[in-house]
Amino acid sequence: MREPGGRIMAFYKQPCVHCGEFIDRDVRFCPKCGSRSPFGYACPTCLRPIEKDQKICSGCGRSLFVNCPACGNQTFVGERCQVCGVDLMIQCQNPRCGQMQFFLNEKCTACGKKFKNKE
Ligand SMILES: [Zn+2]
Ligand SMILES: [Zn+2]
Ligand SMILES: [Zn+2]
Ligand SMILES: [Zn+2]
Repeated sequence: MREPGGRIMAFYKQPCVHCGEFIDRDVRFCPKCGSRSPFGYACPTCLRPIEKDQKICSGCGRSLFVNCPACGNQTFVGERCQVCGVDLMIQCQNPRCGQMQFFLNEKCTACGKKFKNKE
């Protein structure tokens, strides 16, 4: 009998809330469906975990429904508009950060850089 040496079983997998694929807990996006929040939603402003279809963030009080900039319909603050599917995330302009941020954020939740608002 030989020992099955060198094999490390990964028990740290968790299903993606969007597609159900079991993925590593430390990944930043789901390799199957490409979601950047595979383990649930977070408030785009204070990053507190939120439930899908929750109306108001219990952490910072912001509304969790916004008007889509593309189609104008109300959509949950996910990564994409629930109606037209447009991407609601923008990349932080700090070249050393580059985190994806919700398009309405006034500053980056990762590095604190203020976003220039188009006027
Ligand atoms: Zn997925
Ligand atoms: Zn919040
Ligand atoms: Zn839309
Ligand atoms: Zn940043």
